[in-house]
Amino acid sequence: MPARQFLSEDEEQQIVNAINTAEQKTSGEIRIHIEHDCEGEPLERAARIFHDLGMDETKLKNGVLIYIATEVQKAAVYAGEGIHREVEDGFWDDVLQILITHFKNEEFEQGIENAVHKVGDKLEELFPYDQKGDVDELSNEISFHDNKN
Ligand code: CA
Ligand code: CA
Repeated sequence: MPARQFLSEDEEQQIVNAINTAEQKTSGEIRIHIEHDCEGEPLERAARIFHDLGMDETKLKNGVLIYIATEVQKAAVYAGEGIHREVEDGFWDDVLQILITHFKNEEFEQGIENAVHKVGDKLEELFPYDQKGDVDELSNEISFHDNKN
């Protein structure tokens, strides 16, 4: 399935709304990247995308990328070092498990939205919203890439 057909327009908007809402509670930044195929290990690919999207340049290193490859149904969660070193062991696996569980039932939108909620709650706990003026450092739009058509 081409990455862009993975979600309907409504579903895509629901996810962007979930990111908007989450980021109103934290200085952290959440991004979703969806592509067709994943060459190699999803976590390595996610690390690469994280860099390509400039997510390692946030001030507090608190960006979180949810990565999904539709054709091979692989996913990974990659986080900046600011948040990565603060979360408890197993947290990222829990997020990944949410995605996998829902994807098995073809509940793609719900899986991503629930993962965004879980990451958002953790970001809120560790990196509260800066009332003096938080900056939206990274776009909340989903990043799509069809590496094979
Ligand atoms: Ca922000
Ligand atoms: Ca953002």
